Amino acid sequence: MTTEILPAGEKAVALAAQLLRAGQPVAIPTETVYGLAANALDAEAAARVFEAKGRPKDNPMIVHIDMLDRLPQVVSAFPREAQLLADAFWPGPLTLVLPKAAGIPDAVSAGLATVGVRLPAHRATRAVIAAAGLPLAAPSANRSGRPSPTSARHVWHDMAGRIPLILDGGDCPVGVESTVVSLAGGPTVLRPGFVTAEEIAAVLDRPVATADGAHYAHTQAPPSPGMKYRHYAPEAELLLLDGTLEQFIHYLQENAAEKPGACALCFAGEEARLPLPALAYGQAGEAASQAAGLYAALRRLDAEGAKYIYARMPAGGGVGQAVRNRLLRAADFNVISL
Ligand code: AMP
Ligand code: MG
Repeated sequence: MTTEILPAGEKAVALAAQLLRAGQPVAIPTETVYGLAANALDAEAAARVFEAKGRPKDNPMIVHIDMLDRLPQVVSAFPREAQLLADAFWPGPLTLVLPKAAGIPDAVSAGLATVGVRLPAHRATRAVIAAAGLPLAAPSANRSGRPSPTSARHVWHDMAGRIPLILDGGDCPVGVESTVVSLAGGPTVLRPGFVTAEEIAAVLDRPVATADGAHYAHTQAPPSPGMKYRHYAPEAELLLLDGTLEQFIHYLQENAAEKPGACALCFAGEEARLPLPALAYGQAGEAASQAAGLYAALRRLDAEGAKYIYARMPAGGGVGQAVRNRLLRAADFNVISL
């Protein structure tokens, strides 16, 4: 199959809609990461996405809509707390897990009675959904297990020859996947993201649990199926070092300076102080910039042939929670407290 890559203008959006209506997968930009979209009402179309990604069949997809009017096609109930969160954070990087509508096939929800739904902010994403006239199931457009794509070039690297079309909408501004919150039972953050648990608790005016603990890795029945898989991983071996810059420098001098293929993943401005080739993934203390740069940095180190990546851990609060979560999973929880 030849894969076309086109700027996400009007003509390309129309072509994408045509392919999607014919049951084909198309890679599209969103504000979080690039998604590999398919008709969410068509089990065969969904199966093509799992096939192209090499995604485990028990990992459900998030369904994207362009307007609230499309909700009844996706969910069978939209409780008051969902409405409050939608009012506060949609369009935007928040996914709500709710009871699924009858028309959503098991292939999309991985057999669960619930489905994740999101109304994205990116203009091109919504233009494609509107042109197709369909809710679109879209996981990240990477080969399963690899860092998510935040540019059309990243998608090309993973998907060339496997899908017919990539829409190029530039770099994704958020850079990490949506916050996933379940409203079945008490509100629970299943995956941290740009919308934080604190912000959700403030809108709902009650405590919000977080279920994204390391202990779910490799377990059989976690609260959210994606928790049990390794995600976002570079080809290089990744080790996270949690401590100050001085401790980081000291650790690298003692343990990594002579190691062939070793490199450092650090914060902007630190490169020159490190005893290894180094790449920054964001500003120290600015979690949003770290989120925006993380996947591109992991992919670039792979492209440059890194064998070992020693990474600085960000502070954990707010959006930093999402960055830490992605790094921990990318490293398969391989972390040292300095
Ligand atoms: P991705 O498509 O790569 O952004 O991953 C979507 C993630 O959302 C999955 O790995 C799940 O962990 C989570 N998710 C989607 N739908 C559900 C659901 N119905 N219940 C719980 N978690 C979900
Ligand atoms: Mg993914």
